[in-house]
Amino acid sequence: MIDLDDPLINGYLRRLIGEDGITLIRNMPEGEVTDEEICNVLNPLKSASKEADDKVKKLKAEIKAAGESQADVKKLEKDLKKAEKEAEKAKAEAVGEYEITLNTVRKILFILYENKFTICRRERDANSGWLTFRWQINMDGIDYQIEREKKKLYRNLLKRKEYEDNNVFYVCPQNCLRLVFDEATETDFICPICGEDLVFEDNELFKQLLDTRIAEFGDMPR
Ligand SMILES: [Zn+2]
Repeated sequence: MIDLDDPLINGYLRRLIGEDGITLIRNMPEGEVTDEEICNVLNPLKSASKEADDKVKKLKAEIKAAGESQADVKKLEKDLKKAEKEAEKAKAEAVGEYEITLNTVRKILFILYENKFTICRRERDANSGWLTFRWQINMDGIDYQIEREKKKLYRNLLKRKEYEDNNVFYVCPQNCLRLVFDEATETDFICPICGEDLVFEDNELFKQLLDTRIAEFGDMPR
């Protein structure tokens, strides 16, 4: 399994599928599962509440069907009272549980599928003809994706460093904006937003920071 706390992997996945997506991968059940099963795992309290509600409904139906037999009905009614109490309790416990909806789960699975991070098997129910999708996470391709991300980040850092090296900057003391020399001359060195005089910015420290970050990439090819 991949290390979801690795900053590069975590950052890449967060941009791709968000925090909910990372939670999904972290809690994905073993083997092939349906989107609804995943959703239940991600919302344990809400899922327990739903289950308790279903039990109440089932008992009510059984009471209706029990008909004449008074003894059966008495027992079922007792069970129903208990089930209703439990359903109420489960409902109260589920209030405020952070929810990842079925819709969100489907969206995440779709994005993962697009990026070849899931395997999906379709199964047709012989009786109903209904299609069920069974999902499995497969993050084998992530190393390749991360390597691509790293190269992109590295290229961006090099580009930024070149830009910082080749320009002189002026900034507004109120932090409205940052202009290169040519732009600053066009505004007569006055901030076009607030009217303050622009001041020269020494970007030496920022450039050093960029150098440090670039050095972290070691001997990556440009
Ligand atoms: Zn300003």
